[in-house]
Amino acid sequence: MISHTQLCLHCKYVFVSKRSDAKYCSTSCRVLACIERQKKYWQEEREKQKRYDEEQFKRYQLREQQKGNQVKQNEQNVSSISIQNNEEPIISDAVKDLQEWIKTSFENLKRENQERTEKENKEHHSI
Ligand SMILES: [Zn+2]
Repeated sequence: MISHTQLCLHCKYVFVSKRSDAKYCSTSCRVLACIERQKKYWQEEREKQKRYDEEQFKRYQLREQQKGNQVKQNEQNVSSISIQNNEEPIISDAVKDLQEWIKTSFENLKRENQERTEKENKEHHSI
């Protein structure tokens, strides 16, 4: 049997695998790496939303200034712009999706571990 020595992309530990293209040393490293990718994705989405809100706010501020009204910029104003414009606030959905994803991932991980333990117990009993 050929085994391949590789570096885990998540924990940076060296591990041995039967597969030449294995990226992670364990299921947990694979799941954690995936969670990190998801987090990064939603962080970028939030940044995009924030920039969009700020732009919208600047436009709103300019419009109001042209009418002779002064608009003070504060955090509350910026984050409420998308709600004022009746647009779906992306942040709450993103967080919900991420929470759901983490929950599913850990349920899968738990099931995998359980199945492995059951298999090991069975093998142990059959000896
Ligand atoms: Zn690892």
